[in-house]
Amino acid sequence: MIDADKTRTRIARAVALAGPRPWLLGYDANGIQELVTASSRPIAMFGASATIALFDESSQRDSTIFAGGGRGVELVASEEAARARAGELAFAFRKETWGGVMATACVPYDPAAPAQSLRWLRRKLEIQKDAALPPGGAIPTTKNDICADCGTYLARHKSTRPDWQGEMVCDRCDAMANAGRDRSRHIDERIQSLVDLSPTTGPIAAVSVDGNDLGDFFDKLESLEQMAIASEAISLVFERGNEAARLKLQHPKVSLATGGDDIRLFLAWDDLLRYVSALVPAIEREADALARQGPPFDRLAGLGIGIGAVVADARLPASRLMTVAHELERKAKRLCRPSSPGKSQGPRVRSAFDFAVLTAGDASYRATEEKADGKPNDDLRPIDMAAESWSRLLHAVEALARIPTAQRAILAEIATLGEEEGSNLLRYQVARSKKDEKWRAWYAACGVDWRDPDAVWRHRPRPVHLDLVRLLPRESA
Ligand SMILES: [Zn+2]
Repeated sequence: MIDADKTRTRIARAVALAGPRPWLLGYDANGIQELVTASSRPIAMFGASATIALFDESSQRDSTIFAGGGRGVELVASEEAARARAGELAFAFRKETWGGVMATACVPYDPAAPAQSLRWLRRKLEIQKDAALPPGGAIPTTKNDICADCGTYLARHKSTRPDWQGEMVCDRCDAMANAGRDRSRHIDERIQSLVDLSPTTGPIAAVSVDGNDLGDFFDKLESLEQMAIASEAISLVFERGNEAARLKLQHPKVSLATGGDDIRLFLAWDDLLRYVSALVPAIEREADALARQGPPFDRLAGLGIGIGAVVADARLPASRLMTVAHELERKAKRLCRPSSPGKSQGPRVRSAFDFAVLTAGDASYRATEEKADGKPNDDLRPIDMAAESWSRLLHAVEALARIPTAQRAILAEIATLGEEEGSNLLRYQVARSKKDEKWRAWYAACGVDWRDPDAVWRHRPRPVHLDLVRLLPRESA
Protein backbone atom coordinates (compact mmCIF):
# COMPACT_ATOMS: atom_id res chain seq x y z
CA MET A 1 0.00 0.00 0.00
CA ILE A 2 2.30 2.71 1.34
CA ASP A 3 6.05 2.57 0.97
CA ALA A 4 6.74 3.06 4.68
CA ASP A 5 10.52 2.75 4.35
CA LYS A 6 10.61 5.51 1.79
CA THR A 7 8.52 7.72 4.07
CA ARG A 8 10.80 6.98 7.04
CA THR A 9 13.87 7.93 5.03
CA ARG A 10 12.15 11.14 3.93
CA ILE A 11 11.23 12.07 7.52
CA ALA A 12 14.74 11.28 8.80
CA ARG A 13 16.12 13.65 6.17
CA ALA A 14 13.63 16.37 7.16
CA VAL A 15 14.64 15.99 10.82
CA ALA A 16 18.35 16.20 9.94
CA LEU A 17 17.75 19.28 7.79
CA ALA A 18 15.88 21.06 10.57
CA GLY A 19 18.91 21.03 12.87
CA PRO A 20 19.09 21.17 16.67
CA ARG A 21 16.13 23.50 17.46
CA PRO A 22 13.40 22.47 15.09
CA TRP A 23 9.92 23.95 14.81
CA LEU A 24 6.76 22.46 13.38
CA LEU A 25 4.65 24.43 10.96
CA GLY A 26 1.07 23.40 10.20
CA TYR A 27 -1.21 24.90 7.57
CA ASP A 28 -4.81 24.32 6.58
CA ALA A 29 -6.88 26.16 3.98
CA ASN A 30 -9.83 27.90 5.55
CA GLY A 31 -13.30 27.22 4.12
CA ILE A 32 -11.99 25.04 1.32
CA GLN A 33 -15.46 23.76 0.52
CA GLU A 34 -16.83 27.30 0.15
CA LEU A 35 -13.85 28.17 -1.99
CA VAL A 36 -14.42 25.26 -4.34
CA THR A 37 -18.21 25.70 -4.58
CA ALA A 38 -18.18 29.53 -4.75
CA SER A 39 -19.11 29.32 -8.41
CA SER A 40 -21.87 26.84 -9.27
CA ARG A 41 -20.28 26.19 -12.65
CA PRO A 42 -18.69 22.73 -12.72
CA ILE A 43 -15.80 23.99 -14.83
CA ALA A 44 -14.93 26.59 -12.15
CA MET A 45 -15.36 24.07 -9.31
CA PHE A 46 -13.05 21.74 -11.15
CA GLY A 47 -10.62 24.60 -11.75
CA ALA A 48 -10.61 25.47 -8.03
CA SER A 49 -10.04 21.79 -7.18
CA ALA A 50 -7.19 21.55 -9.68
CA THR A 51 -5.68 24.78 -8.32
CA ILE A 52 -5.63 23.37 -4.80
CA ALA A 53 -4.10 20.11 -6.03
CA LEU A 54 -1.42 22.13 -7.81
CA PHE A 55 -0.78 24.11 -4.62
CA ASP A 56 -0.32 20.82 -2.71
CA GLU A 57 2.24 19.68 -5.26
CA SER A 58 4.16 22.94 -5.44
CA SER A 59 4.35 23.32 -1.65
CA GLN A 60 6.12 19.94 -1.27
CA ARG A 61 9.74 20.27 -0.24
CA ASP A 62 12.36 18.26 1.62
CA SER A 63 11.06 19.42 4.98
CA THR A 64 7.45 18.38 4.25
CA ILE A 65 6.01 15.80 6.62
CA PHE A 66 2.79 15.62 4.65
CA ALA A 67 0.85 17.82 2.24
CA GLY A 68 -2.52 17.28 0.61
CA GLY A 69 -5.99 18.75 0.23
CA GLY A 70 -4.80 22.29 1.02
CA ARG A 71 -3.14 21.33 4.28
CA GLY A 72 0.16 20.06 5.52
CA VAL A 73 2.87 19.94 8.15
CA GLU A 74 6.52 20.89 7.72
CA LEU A 75 9.58 20.79 9.93
CA VAL A 76 11.72 23.95 9.91
CA ALA A 77 14.96 25.11 11.53
CA SER A 78 13.68 27.89 13.79
CA GLU A 79 10.74 29.99 14.87
CA GLU A 80 11.72 32.73 12.38
CA ALA A 81 11.95 30.18 9.59
CA ALA A 82 8.53 28.83 10.56
CA ARG A 83 6.95 32.29 10.48
CA ALA A 84 8.58 33.17 7.18
CA ARG A 85 7.45 29.91 5.61
CA ALA A 86 3.91 30.36 6.99
CA GLY A 87 3.75 33.80 5.39
CA GLU A 88 5.04 32.40 2.12
CA LEU A 89 2.45 29.60 2.03
CA ALA A 90 -0.43 31.93 2.93
CA PHE A 91 0.67 34.39 0.23
CA ALA A 92 1.01 31.69 -2.42
CA PHE A 93 -2.37 30.21 -1.56
CA ARG A 94 -4.11 33.59 -1.65
CA LYS A 95 -2.50 34.38 -4.99
CA GLU A 96 -3.18 31.04 -6.66
CA THR A 97 -6.79 30.79 -5.47
CA TRP A 98 -7.52 34.52 -5.90
CA GLY A 99 -8.29 35.31 -2.29
CA GLY A 100 -8.29 31.94 -0.49
CA VAL A 101 -7.24 32.12 3.17
CA MET A 102 -4.67 29.78 4.66
CA ALA A 103 -4.56 29.34 8.43
CA THR A 104 -1.08 28.59 9.80
CA ALA A 105 0.37 27.75 13.19
CA CYS A 106 3.82 26.89 14.49
CA VAL A 107 5.13 25.30 17.68
CA PRO A 108 8.59 24.14 18.82
CA TYR A 109 9.23 20.49 18.00
CA ASP A 110 10.51 18.36 20.87
CA PRO A 111 12.07 15.17 19.42
CA ALA A 112 11.77 13.58 22.87
CA ALA A 113 7.99 14.17 22.94
CA PRO A 114 6.81 14.15 19.32
CA ALA A 115 3.21 13.20 20.13
CA GLN A 116 2.77 16.20 22.43
CA SER A 117 4.33 18.55 19.87
CA LEU A 118 1.96 17.28 17.18
CA ARG A 119 -1.09 17.58 19.43
CA TRP A 120 -0.12 21.11 20.39
CA LEU A 121 0.23 22.00 16.71
CA ARG A 122 -3.22 20.56 15.93
CA ARG A 123 -4.85 22.57 18.70
CA LYS A 124 -3.12 25.77 17.74
CA LEU A 125 -4.06 25.32 14.10
CA GLU A 126 -7.72 24.74 15.01
CA ILE A 127 -7.73 28.05 16.89
CA GLN A 128 -6.11 29.82 13.95
CA LYS A 129 -8.67 28.35 11.59
CA ASP A 130 -11.52 29.66 13.70
CA ALA A 131 -9.92 33.09 13.78
CA ALA A 132 -9.06 33.23 10.06
CA LEU A 133 -10.60 35.92 7.90
CA PRO A 134 -13.06 35.01 5.15
CA PRO A 135 -11.67 34.86 1.61
CA GLY A 136 -10.93 38.29 0.16
CA GLY A 137 -11.71 39.93 -3.15
CA ALA A 138 -12.93 43.18 -4.66
CA ILE A 139 -16.44 43.95 -3.41
CA PRO A 140 -18.85 45.53 -5.89
CA THR A 141 -20.38 48.91 -5.04
CA THR A 142 -23.57 48.48 -7.03
CA LYS A 143 -25.82 45.50 -7.63
CA ASN A 144 -25.07 45.59 -11.34
CA ASP A 145 -21.40 44.85 -10.76
CA ILE A 146 -21.90 41.55 -8.93
CA CYS A 147 -20.26 38.45 -10.39
CA ALA A 148 -22.85 36.27 -12.17
CA ASP A 149 -21.21 33.05 -10.98
CA CYS A 150 -20.43 33.55 -7.28
CA GLY A 151 -22.73 36.47 -6.55
CA THR A 152 -20.10 37.99 -4.26
CA TYR A 153 -17.24 39.82 -5.91
CA LEU A 154 -16.84 42.61 -8.41
CA ALA A 155 -17.51 41.44 -11.97
CA ARG A 156 -14.99 42.61 -14.54
CA HIS A 157 -14.62 39.80 -17.08
CA LYS A 158 -16.97 38.44 -19.71
CA SER A 159 -18.20 35.02 -18.63
CA THR A 160 -16.93 32.25 -20.89
CA ARG A 161 -20.11 30.19 -20.63
CA PRO A 162 -21.14 28.88 -24.06
CA ASP A 163 -24.68 30.24 -23.71
CA TRP A 164 -23.33 33.72 -22.88
CA GLN A 165 -26.00 36.38 -22.52
CA GLY A 166 -23.97 39.28 -21.26
CA GLU A 167 -22.98 37.78 -17.88
CA MET A 168 -19.91 39.26 -16.21
CA VAL A 169 -17.78 37.43 -13.62
CA CYS A 170 -15.16 38.33 -11.02
CA ASP A 171 -11.38 37.77 -11.20
CA ARG A 172 -11.57 34.60 -9.21
CA CYS A 173 -14.45 32.93 -11.09
CA ASP A 174 -12.79 33.86 -14.38
CA ALA A 175 -9.45 32.40 -13.24
CA MET A 176 -11.02 29.24 -11.87
CA ALA A 177 -13.02 28.60 -15.06
CA ASN A 178 -9.81 29.06 -17.06
CA ALA A 179 -7.93 26.72 -14.72
CA GLY A 180 -10.70 24.17 -15.11
CA ARG A 181 -10.54 24.42 -18.88
CA ASP A 182 -6.75 24.06 -18.90
CA ARG A 183 -6.64 21.06 -16.66
CA SER A 184 -9.83 19.24 -17.48
CA ARG A 185 -9.13 16.10 -19.41
CA HIS A 186 -12.00 13.92 -18.28
CA ILE A 187 -15.15 14.16 -20.27
CA ASP A 188 -17.17 13.99 -17.01
CA GLU A 189 -15.73 17.24 -15.81
CA ARG A 190 -16.63 19.01 -19.01
CA ILE A 191 -20.31 19.35 -18.28
CA GLN A 192 -21.36 22.96 -18.34
CA SER A 193 -23.93 23.03 -15.58
CA LEU A 194 -25.03 20.86 -12.67
CA VAL A 195 -28.38 20.68 -14.48
CA ASP A 196 -26.65 18.43 -17.05
CA LEU A 197 -25.87 15.78 -14.45
CA SER A 198 -29.28 14.20 -14.16
CA PRO A 199 -31.20 12.54 -16.96
CA THR A 200 -34.23 14.52 -18.14
CA THR A 201 -33.24 17.53 -16.00
CA GLY A 202 -34.16 15.85 -12.71
CA PRO A 203 -32.73 17.06 -9.43
CA ILE A 204 -29.12 16.42 -8.46
CA ALA A 205 -27.50 15.07 -5.32
CA ALA A 206 -24.79 16.88 -3.36
CA VAL A 207 -22.82 14.34 -1.32
CA SER A 208 -20.48 14.92 1.61
CA VAL A 209 -18.51 12.08 3.23
CA ASP A 210 -16.12 12.03 6.16
CA GLY A 211 -14.40 9.35 8.26
CA ASN A 212 -15.50 8.79 11.85
CA ASP A 213 -13.26 9.54 14.84
CA LEU A 214 -10.16 10.23 12.80
CA GLY A 215 -9.31 13.28 14.89
CA ASP A 216 -8.89 10.93 17.82
CA PHE A 217 -6.79 8.56 15.70
CA PHE A 218 -4.42 11.39 14.68
CA ASP A 219 -4.25 12.70 18.25
CA LYS A 220 -2.81 9.40 19.40
CA LEU A 221 -0.08 9.10 16.77
CA GLU A 222 3.33 9.03 18.36
CA SER A 223 5.79 10.32 15.81
CA LEU A 224 6.30 12.30 12.63
CA GLU A 225 6.79 9.05 10.70
CA GLN A 226 3.48 7.73 11.97
CA MET A 227 1.76 10.95 11.00
CA ALA A 228 3.24 10.97 7.52
CA ILE A 229 2.46 7.32 6.88
CA ALA A 230 -1.03 7.58 8.40
CA SER A 231 -1.92 10.68 6.35
CA GLU A 232 -0.94 8.93 3.16
CA ALA A 233 -2.62 5.67 4.09
CA ILE A 234 -5.92 7.27 5.08
CA SER A 235 -6.05 9.38 1.94
CA LEU A 236 -5.54 6.19 -0.02
CA VAL A 237 -8.38 4.39 1.81
CA PHE A 238 -10.81 7.15 0.86
CA GLU A 239 -9.46 7.55 -2.65
CA ARG A 240 -9.80 3.84 -3.37
CA GLY A 241 -13.24 3.59 -1.78
CA ASN A 242 -14.41 6.57 -3.79
CA GLU A 243 -12.97 5.12 -7.00
CA ALA A 244 -14.71 1.80 -6.44
CA ALA A 245 -18.04 3.54 -5.81
CA ARG A 246 -17.69 5.82 -8.81
CA LEU A 247 -17.43 2.77 -11.07
CA LYS A 248 -21.10 2.11 -10.27
CA LEU A 249 -22.29 5.49 -11.53
CA GLN A 250 -24.31 5.67 -14.71
CA HIS A 251 -24.19 9.42 -15.25
CA PRO A 252 -21.51 12.11 -15.14
CA LYS A 253 -20.40 13.46 -11.77
CA VAL A 254 -18.53 16.50 -10.50
CA SER A 255 -16.04 15.62 -7.80
CA LEU A 256 -14.37 18.33 -5.76
CA ALA A 257 -10.83 18.60 -4.45
CA THR A 258 -10.51 17.19 -1.03
CA GLY A 259 -7.80 15.51 0.90
CA GLY A 260 -7.54 12.93 3.60
CA ASP A 261 -10.86 11.53 4.66
CA ASP A 262 -13.17 14.02 2.92
CA ILE A 263 -15.17 13.28 -0.20
CA ARG A 264 -17.46 15.82 -1.85
CA LEU A 265 -19.26 15.35 -5.12
CA PHE A 266 -22.34 16.15 -7.14
CA LEU A 267 -24.24 13.29 -8.75
CA ALA A 268 -27.32 12.62 -10.80
CA TRP A 269 -30.20 11.95 -8.39
CA ASP A 270 -30.61 8.35 -9.50
CA ASP A 271 -26.91 7.61 -8.97
CA LEU A 272 -27.10 8.47 -5.26
CA LEU A 273 -28.21 5.08 -3.93
CA ARG A 274 -25.83 3.27 -6.29
CA TYR A 275 -22.96 5.39 -5.00
CA VAL A 276 -23.79 5.12 -1.31
CA SER A 277 -24.41 1.36 -1.53
CA ALA A 278 -20.97 0.84 -3.06
CA LEU A 279 -19.00 3.42 -1.07
CA VAL A 280 -19.65 2.14 2.44
CA PRO A 281 -18.45 -1.46 1.92
CA ALA A 282 -15.53 -0.27 -0.23
CA ILE A 283 -14.17 2.11 2.42
CA GLU A 284 -14.83 -0.30 5.28
CA ARG A 285 -12.98 -3.01 3.38
CA GLU A 286 -9.99 -0.74 2.71
CA ALA A 287 -9.91 0.38 6.34
CA ASP A 288 -9.96 -3.19 7.60
CA ALA A 289 -7.14 -4.13 5.23
CA LEU A 290 -5.10 -1.21 6.55
CA ALA A 291 -5.88 -2.14 10.16
CA ARG A 292 -4.43 -5.60 9.57
CA GLN A 293 -1.04 -4.00 8.91
CA GLY A 294 -0.65 -3.52 12.66
CA PRO A 295 0.10 -0.47 14.84
CA PRO A 296 -0.83 2.32 14.63
CA PHE A 297 -3.38 1.23 12.02
CA ASP A 298 -4.84 -1.54 14.17
CA ARG A 299 -6.92 1.23 15.76
CA LEU A 300 -8.63 1.74 12.41
CA ALA A 301 -10.31 -1.67 12.54
CA GLY A 302 -14.00 -0.86 12.35
CA LEU A 303 -13.45 2.62 10.89
CA GLY A 304 -16.69 3.81 9.35
CA ILE A 305 -17.97 6.91 7.60
CA GLY A 306 -20.76 9.44 7.82
CA ILE A 307 -22.51 10.31 4.54
CA GLY A 308 -24.76 13.31 4.08
CA ALA A 309 -26.65 13.99 0.87
CA VAL A 310 -29.21 16.47 -0.31
CA VAL A 311 -31.27 15.90 -3.44
CA ALA A 312 -32.47 19.17 -4.87
CA ASP A 313 -32.95 21.39 -7.89
CA ALA A 314 -29.67 21.70 -9.81
CA ARG A 315 -30.20 25.44 -10.19
CA LEU A 316 -29.76 26.11 -6.48
CA PRO A 317 -26.32 27.47 -5.59
CA ALA A 318 -23.78 24.64 -5.39
CA SER A 319 -22.32 26.08 -2.19
CA ARG A 320 -25.68 25.98 -0.43
CA LEU A 321 -26.36 22.40 -1.50
CA MET A 322 -22.94 21.30 -0.27
CA THR A 323 -23.45 23.10 3.05
CA VAL A 324 -26.71 21.21 3.64
CA ALA A 325 -25.06 17.91 2.63
CA HIS A 326 -22.28 18.63 5.09
CA GLU A 327 -24.75 19.31 7.92
CA LEU A 328 -26.47 16.01 7.20
CA GLU A 329 -23.10 14.26 7.15
CA ARG A 330 -22.47 15.54 10.67
CA LYS A 331 -25.82 14.15 11.81
CA ALA A 332 -24.92 10.80 10.27
CA LYS A 333 -21.59 10.85 12.07
CA ARG A 334 -23.28 11.57 15.38
CA LEU A 335 -25.21 8.31 15.07
CA CYS A 336 -21.88 6.49 14.86
CA ARG A 337 -20.57 7.89 18.15
CA PRO A 338 -20.35 5.27 20.89
CA SER A 339 -23.05 6.93 23.01
CA SER A 340 -25.06 9.06 20.65
CA PRO A 341 -28.18 10.74 22.00
CA GLY A 342 -31.49 9.28 20.86
CA LYS A 343 -29.93 5.94 20.09
CA SER A 344 -30.89 2.83 21.94
CA GLN A 345 -28.12 0.84 23.57
CA GLY A 346 -27.67 -1.39 20.56
CA PRO A 347 -24.44 -2.41 18.88
CA ARG A 348 -22.28 0.42 17.67
CA VAL A 349 -23.18 1.89 14.30
CA ARG A 350 -20.14 1.75 12.02
CA SER A 351 -21.29 3.89 9.10
CA ALA A 352 -24.41 6.01 8.71
CA PHE A 353 -26.25 7.93 6.01
CA ASP A 354 -28.53 10.93 6.37
CA PHE A 355 -30.24 12.61 3.46
CA ALA A 356 -32.96 15.06 2.54
CA VAL A 357 -34.99 15.36 -0.63
CA LEU A 358 -35.53 19.05 -1.08
CA THR A 359 -38.26 20.30 -3.36
CA ALA A 360 -40.24 23.49 -3.22
CA GLY A 361 -42.36 23.47 -0.05
CA ASP A 362 -41.21 20.01 0.86
CA ALA A 363 -42.01 18.39 4.19
CA SER A 364 -38.96 16.16 4.03
CA TYR A 365 -36.41 18.87 4.68
CA ARG A 366 -38.51 20.22 7.52
CA ALA A 367 -38.39 16.75 9.02
CA THR A 368 -34.61 16.79 9.00
CA GLU A 369 -34.57 20.29 10.47
CA GLU A 370 -36.90 19.29 13.25
CA LYS A 371 -34.51 16.53 14.15
CA ALA A 372 -31.79 19.12 14.51
CA ASP A 373 -33.84 20.67 17.33
CA GLY A 374 -33.56 17.43 19.25
CA LYS A 375 -37.28 16.64 18.99
CA PRO A 376 -38.18 12.99 18.97
CA ASN A 377 -38.47 11.91 15.40
CA ASP A 378 -40.48 9.28 13.72
CA ASP A 379 -38.45 9.23 10.59
CA LEU A 380 -35.67 6.70 11.27
CA ARG A 381 -32.95 8.91 9.78
CA PRO A 382 -29.92 8.79 9.90
CA ILE A 383 -29.75 5.26 8.53
CA ASP A 384 -27.41 2.62 9.91
CA MET A 385 -25.47 1.41 6.87
CA ALA A 386 -24.67 -2.10 8.14
CA ALA A 387 -24.77 -4.21 4.95
CA GLU A 388 -27.59 -6.50 5.97
CA SER A 389 -29.96 -3.86 7.31
CA TRP A 390 -29.28 -1.55 4.35
CA SER A 391 -30.08 -4.22 1.80
CA ARG A 392 -33.20 -5.18 3.78
CA LEU A 393 -34.24 -1.53 3.78
CA LEU A 394 -33.76 -1.20 0.01
CA HIS A 395 -35.70 -4.39 -0.54
CA ALA A 396 -38.59 -3.04 1.55
CA VAL A 397 -38.48 0.29 -0.28
CA GLU A 398 -38.72 -1.55 -3.61
CA ALA A 399 -41.86 -3.28 -2.30
CA LEU A 400 -43.23 0.09 -1.21
CA ALA A 401 -42.55 1.53 -4.67
CA ARG A 402 -44.86 -1.12 -6.17
CA ILE A 403 -47.81 0.11 -4.09
CA PRO A 404 -49.85 2.46 -6.29
CA THR A 405 -49.10 6.15 -5.66
CA ALA A 406 -52.69 6.90 -4.70
CA GLN A 407 -52.53 4.27 -1.96
CA ARG A 408 -49.18 5.49 -0.72
CA ALA A 409 -50.74 8.94 -0.39
CA ILE A 410 -52.82 7.59 2.48
CA LEU A 411 -49.64 7.63 4.57
CA ALA A 412 -49.67 11.41 4.58
CA GLU A 413 -53.21 11.29 5.98
CA ILE A 414 -52.19 8.75 8.61
CA ALA A 415 -49.37 11.01 9.74
CA THR A 416 -51.95 13.64 10.72
CA LEU A 417 -54.04 11.19 12.77
CA GLY A 418 -53.42 9.81 16.22
CA GLU A 419 -52.11 6.30 16.68
CA GLU A 420 -55.47 4.63 17.11
CA GLU A 421 -57.21 6.22 14.16
CA GLY A 422 -54.10 6.01 11.98
CA SER A 423 -53.60 2.39 12.83
CA ASN A 424 -57.23 1.56 11.99
CA LEU A 425 -57.03 3.30 8.66
CA LEU A 426 -53.76 1.60 7.78
CA ARG A 427 -55.01 -1.86 8.78
CA TYR A 428 -58.13 -1.34 6.71
CA GLN A 429 -56.00 -0.38 3.74
CA VAL A 430 -53.72 -3.39 4.14
CA ALA A 431 -56.58 -5.84 4.59
CA ARG A 432 -58.57 -4.63 1.61
CA SER A 433 -55.61 -4.73 -0.80
CA LYS A 434 -56.18 -8.46 -0.87
CA LYS A 435 -56.02 -8.90 -4.62
CA ASP A 436 -52.66 -7.40 -5.40
CA GLU A 437 -51.01 -8.18 -2.08
CA LYS A 438 -48.71 -5.18 -2.50
CA TRP A 439 -49.11 -3.92 1.04
CA ARG A 440 -48.47 -7.43 2.26
CA ALA A 441 -45.26 -7.53 0.26
CA TRP A 442 -44.11 -4.42 2.16
CA TYR A 443 -44.74 -6.11 5.52
CA ALA A 444 -43.15 -9.32 4.32
CA ALA A 445 -40.06 -7.33 3.30
CA CYS A 446 -40.04 -5.80 6.80
CA GLY A 447 -40.08 -9.34 8.18
CA VAL A 448 -43.44 -9.01 9.97
CA ASP A 449 -46.92 -10.50 9.62
CA TRP A 450 -49.51 -8.11 8.10
CA ARG A 451 -52.21 -9.76 10.28
CA ASP A 452 -50.51 -8.55 13.45
CA PRO A 453 -52.16 -5.15 14.14
CA ASP A 454 -49.26 -3.89 16.26
CA ALA A 455 -46.73 -4.82 13.60
CA VAL A 456 -48.78 -3.10 10.89
CA TRP A 457 -48.58 0.14 12.85
CA ARG A 458 -45.01 -0.22 14.08
CA HIS A 459 -43.65 -0.99 10.63
CA ARG A 460 -45.70 1.56 8.73
CA PRO A 461 -43.75 3.36 5.99
CA ARG A 462 -42.15 6.58 7.25
CA PRO A 463 -41.02 9.70 5.41
CA VAL A 464 -37.56 8.16 4.98
CA HIS A 465 -39.08 5.25 3.04
CA LEU A 466 -41.13 7.53 0.82
CA ASP A 467 -38.03 9.62 0.11
CA LEU A 468 -36.07 6.48 -0.74
CA VAL A 469 -38.83 5.47 -3.16
CA ARG A 470 -38.22 8.75 -4.99
CA LEU A 471 -34.50 7.96 -5.20
CA LEU A 472 -34.80 4.41 -6.54
CA PRO A 473 -33.16 4.22 -9.93
CA ARG A 474 -35.84 3.93 -12.60
CA GLU A 475 -35.21 0.33 -13.58
CA SER A 476 -36.40 -0.89 -10.17
CA ALA A 477 -38.94 1.85 -9.41
ZN1 LIG B 1 -17.23 35.35 -8.89
